[in-house]
Amino acid sequence: MKAIYAGSFSPPTLGHLDVIRRGAALFDELIVAVAGQSEKQYSFDLAARADMLRRVTADMPNVRVVSCTGLLVDLARREGADVLLRGLREASDLPFEQQLADANRMIGGFETLFITALPQYSRISSSIVRDCALHGAPIAGMVPAEILEDIYAVYGKGPHAERKC
Ligand code: ADP
Repeated sequence: MKAIYAGSFSPPTLGHLDVIRRGAALFDELIVAVAGQSEKQYSFDLAARADMLRRVTADMPNVRVVSCTGLLVDLARREGADVLLRGLREASDLPFEQQLADANRMIGGFETLFITALPQYSRISSSIVRDCALHGAPIAGMVPAEILEDIYAVYGKGPHAERKC
């Protein structure tokens, strides 16, 4: 089975990486699709987000990172994917995820499977990482070590950046 895990990944977090790792163990192939166009404003451009994901998944041979600039269901069809994969942190994620899953079933006939976050990652989101980085708070416990410098390059290395969180 081939699955596609799509998201903004702006930036990728340990929570995303955990979904990728657990997803890669379940499927023959897992494609990570980095969203290129939406109404969202991204702090990291598409190439930078894809590059960070490639580096943090380099040890997973059945994971492939691609950019997605159009509809996810079109990419899923082109890639011959069987299902879509998403992560759920807590109940408040559900309404939006359900809406997205319904839309992707309606417009593309794709089902979405969900992996629930590990408790230690359930509070981590890209927006929390961005807010912490913006104010120089420690983020080392939230994102893969390989991409810390990428984030500091965008936000600067604040006074508390090296502290443990
Ligand atoms: P999007 O902008 O498409 O919601 P995100 O990059 O924020 O993209 O998240 C992609 C997917 O990963 C979503 O399904 C989201 O719920 C899930 N996710 C985000 N953070 C975590 C986490 N810490 N643990 C598990 N899943 C997560």
